[in-house]
Amino acid sequence: MKSFDSIIIGGGVIGSTIAHGLAERGLHVAILERKEIADGASHAAAGLLGVQAEWDEYDPLYEMARKSRALFPKVAEKIRAKTGVDIGYEVKGIYRIANTEEEFERIQQIRSWQVSAGEEAWLLSSEELKKFEPNVSSEVISAVYYPTDGHVLAPALAKGQALAAAASGAEIFEYTTVQQIVVKNGKVEGVQTTEGFFPCKQVCIAMGAWSTPFLKRFNEDYGTYPVKGEVISLKSNRPLLHAPLFLKRFYIAPKRYGRYVIGATMKPNSYQEDVQAMSIVDLLQKAFSIVPALQEASWDRTWAGLRPEANGGRPYMEAHSTIQGLFVSTGHYRNGILLSPYVGEYMADLMVNNYVY
Ligand SMILES: Cc1cc2nc3c(=O)[nH]c(=O)nc-3n(C[C@H](O)[C@H](O)[C@H](O)COP(=O)(O)OP(=O)(O)OC[C@H]3O[C@@H](n4cnc5c(N)ncnc54)[C@H](O)[C@@H]3O)c2cc1C
Repeated sequence: MKSFDSIIIGGGVIGSTIAHGLAERGLHVAILERKEIADGASHAAAGLLGVQAEWDEYDPLYEMARKSRALFPKVAEKIRAKTGVDIGYEVKGIYRIANTEEEFERIQQIRSWQVSAGEEAWLLSSEELKKFEPNVSSEVISAVYYPTDGHVLAPALAKGQALAAAASGAEIFEYTTVQQIVVKNGKVEGVQTTEGFFPCKQVCIAMGAWSTPFLKRFNEDYGTYPVKGEVISLKSNRPLLHAPLFLKRFYIAPKRYGRYVIGATMKPNSYQEDVQAMSIVDLLQKAFSIVPALQEASWDRTWAGLRPEANGGRPYMEAHSTIQGLFVSTGHYRNGILLSPYVGEYMADLMVNNYVY
């Protein structure tokens, strides 16, 4: 088996973006993926770049999310130039809506700290919102519009990153399940897989919700757990919304070709990727109460995916303190698509700077 400088375990958006960054920095990289590229959470994601829509309180990850969002124009351009893939990047803003007095208070508080942090956030009355989005129900009493939040087509982004990595010399091995990371004398020597042994100097664990057995090598307390999200998309020939609507953790996101993505449930600790009928009923009821015209739309499809939540609630993005060549990048939970450009740059720099020839 030929040898690699760096092996990335997991071909989701996180692993593929790191591989792209490393290949561009001149390392010989392989992505090992047990199924196909972008088959995990990165396939299920709605693709919202909701920095302001997702963060209710200020924390350090918010800063990372802002930096990452700012990288998307370049990412979209680079992937298109290197691979021809269109990641569907659009900046149409996101509305955070309120349908109760309590929620109205809440969105005003959130708006206030976000404006202090230097972001744009426009408070709209129900009438003002209706001028932009006439199909929104009168149950919506107010909204804050975040003009800088955008969205992408998540599977296209993840595949685009993998193809861009390949265009810079990375090799992709699908249907290759990593069984063990082999360490000798405190150094990474390679990985054992269903397709044989792959020698390498560095390994990065980027296996999303399935990372736990490998993370334990870092620290017994480390681990990820899945938070299942079920989603439905509808189709309509009529334009029903211009920009995504957020209500707490629920959203309706207009996508290309008349699709409306409605999501998503939050079910911790389930590795089953089935879609329950009742979850879809709940999602549709909520969606119809906010945009009644969606009742005339037709069924497109349903799906589910597993968000990788970290045990400590913060993503792991680091080098092992004693094992040379071992790295981890996972646990990006609800925002892995949004965070991926920043994570890719950060991890590629970290791995290149710690590369031992
Ligand atoms: C319903 C839903 C909606 C979402 N919406 C958004 C959104 O709008 N915006 C946003 O920013 N984020 C969103 N997310 C979150 C986002 O999808 C994730 O944070 C992100 O995709 C995680 O990427 P990842 O590469 O870490 O994991 P994954 O995409 O899950 O990739 C991990 C990969 O590792 C592979 N793997 C596992 N074990 C092995 C092994 N032993 N050997 C080899 N390969 C292995 C898996 O097959 C998988 O392909 C959403 C998630 C869900 C489920």
